[in-house]
Amino acid sequence: MVESIVEFFKNLPAKVCATCGNEIEEQHECYSNQCDHCNIK
Ligand SMILES: [Zn+2]
Repeated sequence: MVESIVEFFKNLPAKVCATCGNEIEEQHECYSNQCDHCNIK
């Protein structure tokens, strides 16, 4: 049953920064489509 949960997260589309294309690891809800780097203005 644990494997099904892992598969679920694996199938989730990786959140990628719209600016630099880096994969966003943070799960903050306030994050739109940019990574921590590009989010700083
Ligand atoms: Zn970025």
